[in-house]
Amino acid sequence: MGASSVVDDRHPSLLKESGQREVFCGLTSIVWLHRRMPDAFFLVVGSRTCAHLIQSAAGVMIFAEPRFGTAILGERDLAGLADANEELDRLVTDLLVRRPEIRTLFLVGSCPSEVIKLDLAKAAERLNTQLAGRVKVLNYSGSGIETTFTQGEDKALLAMVPLMPSSDVDQLLIVGTLADAVEDRLVQLFGRLGIPVVTSLPPRRSTELPPIGPGTRVLLAQPFLSDTARALVNRGARLLAAPYPFGVEGSRAWMAAGAEAFGVAPAQVAAVLDPLVERGRRAIAPHRELLAGKRLFLLPDSQLELSLARFLQRECGMELVEVGTPYLDRQLLDAELALLPEGTRISEGQDVERQLERVRAARPDLVVCGLGLANPLEAEGIATKWSIELVFSPIHGCDQAGDLAELFARSLRRRAALSFA
Ligand code: SF4
Repeated sequence: MGASSVVDDRHPSLLKESGQREVFCGLTSIVWLHRRMPDAFFLVVGSRTCAHLIQSAAGVMIFAEPRFGTAILGERDLAGLADANEELDRLVTDLLVRRPEIRTLFLVGSCPSEVIKLDLAKAAERLNTQLAGRVKVLNYSGSGIETTFTQGEDKALLAMVPLMPSSDVDQLLIVGTLADAVEDRLVQLFGRLGIPVVTSLPPRRSTELPPIGPGTRVLLAQPFLSDTARALVNRGARLLAAPYPFGVEGSRAWMAAGAEAFGVAPAQVAAVLDPLVERGRRAIAPHRELLAGKRLFLLPDSQLELSLARFLQRECGMELVEVGTPYLDRQLLDAELALLPEGTRISEGQDVERQLERVRAARPDLVVCGLGLANPLEAEGIATKWSIELVFSPIHGCDQAGDLAELFARSLRRRAALSFA
């Protein structure tokens, strides 16, 4: 049974809901993680359902040489008749013979592996001893019981934190998967700001993990990395508070927070960033013309919702009807919450039928939602934007602000172009 309640005095319009959900599990994040680290392999230990999910999410990518797969638990495993551990070891050995280029192997837990209590942490330990020096074996859970969509990345990065070498070196560490070109650009800009050492987690090569220690200042590039952020802080790093680098305002504030932590003078920050802000604003302008005054409803999906709502409201002039998020980490989203207009209705968790009733009652101009709801809502005459595109597209930084606005404007433009009324 679903439930909803108002839980917070500071944000009186925060609605906490639980009930039926319409979201991905954390396995989906393998689709972008494996592209980031081509020398890693993600082996899901799960059922055919899990294999089907990844196949559907990865689309045509499965025809390229895949760096992910599923060890399918059979009926004998589920009934406890077979020694699943032995089978897993055999499978991993075969895999590594066929794919000698693999340097890091992630054993990814799923609902079935968790339900039968297959201890993948132990399995990783055992395999690490067998494969010492050749391949690192890590483990995390991407199951639907424990994780929602992008939280899979949080768990994968969390598994890498203990392997990061300790160091006191002064550095800026960017955490969260970025498109390579976006990362290059951000590193170049930080260099122009005078920050000499900029590293990334996850790295491009899984074996080249950045160091960590008291000299490390962390800028999160994504708002869904709660567990990873805390683990980095536990290793001595300092977490910088900033809104996330979406749109020109968020990107400027994010980079400025990094610069401030290294004592860069505000005039230097302005000299490097203000021309980018100007250009970004010009790129947003034509989309703002279309988006301004339009009413927006975001359904929970990736935890990017608050940041996107802030961008669309403040830089594109949209009105927020409701901002849904699967999970709200107040500490990580404090800067974003402060930028949202007072009284914005924020919902955490989901009771999908109740939420759809609110969508229908409000008749927003645009709904941001997952693929499962997009076409049904379109059929009801409500314009939608698929949220999954937002985790696959390069949308970080001032340079991408125009493209980010365009992703939302496109849905409305298409609708207008197809209208015969
Ligand atoms: S991990 Fe769970 S939710 Fe995800 S595909 Fe497998 S069974 Fe489904």
